[in-house]
Amino acid sequence: MQGSWRAQSEEFYGNKTINYYVVLGKNYPARHAYQGIRNHARLVMKRSSTPVECRICSYNKHVEVAHIRGISDFPVNTKLSVVNSTENLVYLCPQSPLGIRLR
Ligand SMILES: [Zn+2]
Repeated sequence: MQGSWRAQSEEFYGNKTINYYVVLGKNYPARHAYQGIRNHARLVMKRSSTPVECRICSYNKHVEVAHIRGISDFPVNTKLSVVNSTENLVYLCPQSPLGIRLR
């Protein structure tokens, strides 16, 4: 069914900006404010056809969704559909050096 919860929430939150999450989490450290953005990123990747394996070493037991251009490197009025576009997201394992740098 087209109007699934995942499809609706990906679209709904894709239209929110970084600042929406910063305001939501204003009483918390920035890393908490970004949690909602990361949740959306995982949703976008789950719905994409991207293979669930590390982009660097192809490890597939444990991978995390990382931003190529970091969340804090975007203006706060940027929409999540841009920050969390599949072009800006990669799967990385915790062992790859980039996995530490890219969050
Ligand atoms: Zn790796």
